[in-house]
Amino acid sequence: MSFWKQLFGSGSANTSASAKADSAPASKQGISADDQARALFDTYKKLRVSEEDNKKGIAILTEILGMLDLNTTKLHPGVVFYQRAMRYKFLENFDAALKDLDQALLFAEQRGDQMLESDCHKYNEEIRQSKNRAEIESSGGEKATKFREMEAQREVACYNSGSDANAAFAALFEDLSNPDSDVRLNASRILADSNTTLMQLVSIYKECLNSDVSRAHLAGRVLGRKLARGGAELIAPRSAELIYGLNCSVLPCSCVHCGFMNLGIAAPARGIEVPYYHQDNDKAAYSISVICDKCSRKFFVIWDTDPR
Ligand SMILES: [Zn+2]
Repeated sequence: MSFWKQLFGSGSANTSASAKADSAPASKQGISADDQARALFDTYKKLRVSEEDNKKGIAILTEILGMLDLNTTKLHPGVVFYQRAMRYKFLENFDAALKDLDQALLFAEQRGDQMLESDCHKYNEEIRQSKNRAEIESSGGEKATKFREMEAQREVACYNSGSDANAAFAALFEDLSNPDSDVRLNASRILADSNTTLMQLVSIYKECLNSDVSRAHLAGRVLGRKLARGGAELIAPRSAELIYGLNCSVLPCSCVHCGFMNLGIAAPARGIEVPYYHQDNDKAAYSISVICDKCSRKFFVIWDTDPR
């Protein structure tokens, strides 16, 4: 079975692409299909991000996928699928975006492209969250009203100053420990979106680490999430230093209650070198409190040796 058939199934509309990919591609003008695809991709790269250009982009990328030689080294099919996923996401066609991302991941794995593989995992989480948010917002329920309120608070926190901005920031910060995980993730996304609120979180993290640790850990989780972008790797302090001016590492840890892998937890600089594990209490040489993204219960990442 050809790789295209494995990807799309023999009855899919892409069977013609499969046939093209299996036979030696050549055009009437004597230019190989690969070269035509490459030229089309150069045209694609000139597009901007607008509704019209996103639609044009999808059309061009679809044409490219129909003519591309799978063994080509000129244009990575995974990259084409990834780009089309981005365009679909901008148009809020999240299901199509996720489907393309799966294909991009298959090609990334097949070609040993670890960077694309990692980008696919990270983008997958972002698209799933956007999809979830869009569904909540269009549901018209109580949570949709809450999300609209949070959006209004974002405007005030980011673009106003004085007591109004402080109150809006405080309300969004409080939602980082809201009982509802959708609300917590939305607050985290909003606070991580603007430099104004990010810098406030950096201040909280620095100031509260030795006084109000739970507050520091809530701020740290937003900062850590932004660095991890949905990835499960250990992130050395260099990244946090560059972006936030903070001497901290970022790590994943599974929940002690439900086993869900919680990503983007900010930890002391040596936190990724010293062995750590999870526990339902903070009795250890050093601990970080985490509210689980899935079951909403609190657990602790702990170290038997102080990782600071
Ligand atoms: Zn859990």
